[in-house]
Amino acid sequence: MDRQDWAVYVPATRAVGPQVIRACEPFPPRLSTMPSQPFDRSTALQNLENTEFDMVVVGGGITGAGVALDAASRGLRVALLERDDFASGTSSKSSKLIHGGLRYLQQGDVRLVYQALRERKRLRRNAPHLVHVLPFMIPILTKDGVVSRKIARALGSAMWMYDLTGGWRIGRLHRRLKADKAFAHLPTMPRQKLASAYLYYDAEADDARLVVSVLRTAADNGATIANRCEVVTIDSPSRTSHVVTARDTITGATLRITTRSVVNASGVWADDVRALDENSHPDTIRPAKGVHLTVPWEKVRNDIAVVIPVPRDRRSLFVVPWIAKEDGTYQYTYIGTTDTDYKGPVNDPQCTRDDIEYVLAALNASVTTDVTFEDVSGVWSGLRPLVKMDDTSAKAGRTADLSRRHRVFTSDNGVVTVTGGKLTTYREMAEDAVNEACELLNVKTKSRTRRLSLRGASGKRARSTHADRHLDGRFGSDSSIVKQLISQNPTLGEPLVPGLPYLRAEAVFAVTHEMATSIDDIMTRRTRSRLLDRKACVAATPALADLVGPLLSWTPEQRATNIAFFLDECAREDAAAQVTEQEFIDSHKDTK
Ligand SMILES: Cc1cc2nc3c(=O)[nH]c(=O)nc-3n(C[C@H](O)[C@H](O)[C@H](O)COP(=O)(O)OP(=O)(O)OC[C@H]3O[C@@H](n4cnc5c(N)ncnc54)[C@H](O)[C@@H]3O)c2cc1C
Repeated sequence: MDRQDWAVYVPATRAVGPQVIRACEPFPPRLSTMPSQPFDRSTALQNLENTEFDMVVVGGGITGAGVALDAASRGLRVALLERDDFASGTSSKSSKLIHGGLRYLQQGDVRLVYQALRERKRLRRNAPHLVHVLPFMIPILTKDGVVSRKIARALGSAMWMYDLTGGWRIGRLHRRLKADKAFAHLPTMPRQKLASAYLYYDAEADDARLVVSVLRTAADNGATIANRCEVVTIDSPSRTSHVVTARDTITGATLRITTRSVVNASGVWADDVRALDENSHPDTIRPAKGVHLTVPWEKVRNDIAVVIPVPRDRRSLFVVPWIAKEDGTYQYTYIGTTDTDYKGPVNDPQCTRDDIEYVLAALNASVTTDVTFEDVSGVWSGLRPLVKMDDTSAKAGRTADLSRRHRVFTSDNGVVTVTGGKLTTYREMAEDAVNEACELLNVKTKSRTRRLSLRGASGKRARSTHADRHLDGRFGSDSSIVKQLISQNPTLGEPLVPGLPYLRAEAVFAVTHEMATSIDDIMTRRTRSRLLDRKACVAATPALADLVGPLLSWTPEQRATNIAFFLDECAREDAAAQVTEQEFIDSHKDTK
């Protein structure tokens, strides 16, 4: 980037509360790339107070991660603050699909689907280790079934539209399958009901791993990244000069960070963060809850993803095989998602008995194996940060019908907020938000992320054995570091949770390379153990604490607190599954 690309910015000295901010220097000449930063929390905390940033990003979900990467790769000095763990909000609780969304096409949102399918292609190119092609089947049932032939014809047209809108970018077009072929993909279906099926292709990615990979790539491009730092105040002496105060939620220390711009990427909490800046709560977000259940694969035996209808509802659910085994079968299948208006505590969405009954009823209407409550080994529940369209749509209509498009908004004080959107479209959302911030700063730059490989994508990737493929699909070329840990200490090659595919070395890597600071970080997001089998995780918790406690320098009290926190999270998840949605909301009446 040339020096003349940067506008000279010389504000006067101003008072902010009791403190005085020194006048910002003119923008110094930037290198085309900033020196890379270690992905290490204590170094990040030091940087936060010692650096004058061009941008502070609030929120470490996929949107914030994308913004940090986009801005850092343009050469801006960026800090990202996440109050909990990376992806601990919605970004670890999605359906894990990198897709256009056939449903949005049926709702007439062609632009959204076109953009998402274009982003799907970019993500497959930039993160081939994390984003994998996933075939989908939509069964067509006979007259007595749930979907009529008329609907089947309409579906055929929708499939062509999907291909034309960008589905073709994956290199394969949709096909019609005869009943026998369709049955082979889901042999637990009632064969007599099956008329035929459509087969099409989308992609999948482990959402929480994608977030960590984007964040590590941002750090490689010079961004300072810290989790467990909650933004508590934003003061704005001018539209291009801000002081952000954050609380280190581990030590309780206060951090004071100066920056030329702020991007609020805090998902369903976006209004709360806007309130720090605007002094009133704008009430623009309408959270919509979605849950998923995990059951043993043997109960479903689908070898590809299947879209099943929900009887007496206009929705359908995805039934996705998960954790491939060496023999080509799978260990689990997950089913989701619901899409309901959410009235409960935003910090604690849970999967209730109502949710489980809804999903199981839909599944059991499509398979003959009678999947029961007792078969459910894991659940997750997340909130879509949907943007209210206007006053009318805020009060009426189903959340499923609200647009998944994103919005970028700049406050009078110059704080940029980016909300809405999808996991799939995070890069484009980030580009738009950073463009907006750059316009405010009068900086002429262009996004560089369209062809920017994510961490682990380049370099040597081993994929010859099943174990190689497991590590490659999670770390890409960084799996060599995990393997090195195992060669130094073979006990790290043992399972982290008996029966699950993750290795003890992955927990060590999570602490040393991915800023995991708790048992929950490792069980729930760095690995997906809790989503697969909660009970097995509970049993494996003390052993995990013994493994990572010394790395995190835990005292005996900290070890006990960490174990108690995770077990409490699991117990609350268990308890929520026993009560109705209303009982759950009533029990949280006084919590936000
Ligand atoms: C059930 C469900 C299924 C979905 N499935 C798909 C799918 O298959 N494909 C797809 O493309 N999209 C999907 N989505 C949408 C997608 O998951 C979301 O759009 C996306 O994850 C939102 O990311 P985000 O970063 O905006 O929000 P979040 O991930 O919630 O991140 C916001 C972060 O901000 C942090 N934060 C809040 N306040 C502060 C503060 N004061 N200081 C610091 N940090 C703060 C939070 O802790 C949180 O981590 C799904 C969504 C749901 C709910």
